[in-house]
Amino acid sequence: MPSVLIVEDEPAIADTLIYALRSENFEVTHHITGQEGLEHFQKHPPDLAVLDIGLPDINGFDICRKIRESSTTPVLFLTARDSEIDQVLGLEIGADDYVTKPFSPRAVVARIRAILRRAQDSTHPSATPSSVTHPEPALLDHCEETMSIACSGYPLDLTAHEYKLLSILLAQPGRVFTREQLLEQAWEDPGSAMDRTIDAHIKSLRAKLREHSVTAADTIQTRRGLGYTLVL
Ligand code: CA
Repeated sequence: MPSVLIVEDEPAIADTLIYALRSENFEVTHHITGQEGLEHFQKHPPDLAVLDIGLPDINGFDICRKIRESSTTPVLFLTARDSEIDQVLGLEIGADDYVTKPFSPRAVVARIRAILRRAQDSTHPSATPSSVTHPEPALLDHCEETMSIACSGYPLDLTAHEYKLLSILLAQPGRVFTREQLLEQAWEDPGSAMDRTIDAHIKSLRAKLREHSVTAADTIQTRRGLGYTLVL
């Protein structure tokens, strides 16, 4: 049973998440303050930590930094505001993923499973040979008439910019697009957007793809210092 530590001060949010995780056989511990959460983490390291950012004492970013001093345990942030998402993306805090409130508890559980699977694959590649040697192919279907893209048969719920980005990448798999090229092609007023806007949209695209197929999220690859490419 994978163990999950939740640090969240809003009871309603914590309760729905605890319920969803326990009904999927996760072992869940919950703390309301950052200090208690951190102490618990140090005494009983979980398989994954879910951290709220706005907490009564230490914020989630500081908890994550402390965790990262001694551990590579995956961390999922619960974010409430756009400014927090910017921080998650902008700072090199070492978070593995984030979800924005309000969220569907089932989607969060799916996200947690995906993170744990990735963590396991990278630490024990031989323990999961099937997922390493036979990755599920990422099936992306683009219907230009309805301007929709489906992943493994599930229509993706994309914003206009996410749709444009994914369709540009999908039209030329393997080609590396710089952030500037993506901005120019997908934004009507590229001058007003920044390179980081692309990064934020790619991150949310990957999260949406991951809800349907873990491998699909990796089909959008980062070429460090260059840009992004779609690998099928
Ligand atoms: Ca809070």
